[in-house]
Amino acid sequence: MALFAQATYATTTVLITGANRGIGLEFAKQYAERGYTVIATARKPEKATALKDLQSKHGAQNIFIEQLDVTDFAAIDALAEKYKDQAIDILINNAGITGNPPETQVFGEIDYAVFNKVMQVNALAPLKMTEAFINQVESSEQKKIITVSSSMGSIEKTFGSGYFYRASKTASNMMMYSLAKDYSLKFKKRGIIIGMVNPGPTDTDMMKAMKERGAKLRSTELATRQMISNIDGLTIKTSGSFLQYDGTILPW
Ligand code: NDP
Repeated sequence: MALFAQATYATTTVLITGANRGIGLEFAKQYAERGYTVIATARKPEKATALKDLQSKHGAQNIFIEQLDVTDFAAIDALAEKYKDQAIDILINNAGITGNPPETQVFGEIDYAVFNKVMQVNALAPLKMTEAFINQVESSEQKKIITVSSSMGSIEKTFGSGYFYRASKTASNMMMYSLAKDYSLKFKKRGIIIGMVNPGPTDTDMMKAMKERGAKLRSTELATRQMISNIDGLTIKTSGSFLQYDGTILPW
């Protein structure tokens, strides 16, 4: 058992939230194929069949499936405690929601409870995950904290609508950028690299309605491969970047 644990610590490790489907699942798949140890979280692991299949393929010593609702901060703390001695090279804040149904975001009929939920998942949770796992990231080789953002969080690029989602991604971008710059916390001195990555319009459940309306979507395989390439390229000098899938910088 001790030998097994040592072998686990020797590998490169990635922790991914919302890894049971969509882009999170594809991150788990591609990092596992690279030989990383993957800590994959899911709200309902018992229903995460694709993730369990991936675990069967790569082995339970390489893919750990953990139950986590990212709005449950006590659960985040408990997970961080469980992995307190585990170096985590890359933390990927992937879990996200848009705020459904869209009618909840119609001006004049705003549903603030839905807005609150979107903020909790997309904005508060990435910060809480960062707080909880900062030491594990700092003790790793790569020291990267990544948030899956969106061009919808770009103020310059907005064309209106989708208020909750846009605001939550903008807020998360601001927090992550500020952390990257924060001299009082000395993130740079600690060698911690922060990045925000945009997959572009990608063929997942989140984009189902858009797909039905004829939107051209990118495959999860391509979108994730490009984000991983951008994560690979991030350095302490480029920490705080908001990266488009093609590697260019998105405007705030
Ligand atoms: P999906 O809707 O396919 O998957 C969302 C994932 O987030 C699921 O695993 C879901 O779990 C999880 N999740 C939702 N709420 C919570 C919660 N409270 N706690 C833990 N996990 C939760 O979306 P995508 O894969 O497309 O999105 C992944 C990320 O990419 C998101 O941050 C999204 O904003 C971003 N993005 C996506 C784009 C796209 O075109 N698809 C474009 C730009 C950004 P469950 O199955 O339990 O609901």
